[in-house]
Amino acid sequence: MVTTKKLPQRKCIALIAHDHKKEDMVQWATHNKQILSKHELYATGTTGRLAEEALDRPVKKFLSGPLGGDQQIGSLIATGDIDIVIFFWDPMEAQPHDTDVKALLRLCAVWNIPMACDRSTADFIITSPFMYEDYEAIIPDYSGYLKRNVGV
Ligand code: PGA
Repeated sequence: MVTTKKLPQRKCIALIAHDHKKEDMVQWATHNKQILSKHELYATGTTGRLAEEALDRPVKKFLSGPLGGDQQIGSLIATGDIDIVIFFWDPMEAQPHDTDVKALLRLCAVWNIPMACDRSTADFIITSPFMYEDYEAIIPDYSGYLKRNVGV
């Protein structure tokens, strides 16, 4: 049996950018202001503040990433409430919350969430025809894992 999750026409998009990538994120979001206006935006604290200023619209802001914001977004991925993640992380600098960064990358793979880690991939996602329609994402079958024998 195949389990799917519907990514609706109006999608919930999470924006996260590390400090050296925030300028990139602001430029990308500004360039894509019109298409982004058709979707719900969520973000870690500082990225969200900058996105609100650049786009002149409200963004649902969580805590700053290193203070738990990445994990708050991860929790929404796990509950199926985030459809797309745009995460400009910095490959040239260790982060105080590297473990949270890795956890976020992992959760997107666990739940088959489209994720962009750079501007090119973000451009490919934002220009996809699926941004204008419902999309049925196939969710991996975890039933075998959930029913595994743990010897108790
Ligand atoms: P910030 O967090 O948007 O609050 O700066 C981003 C991050 O480092 O995860």
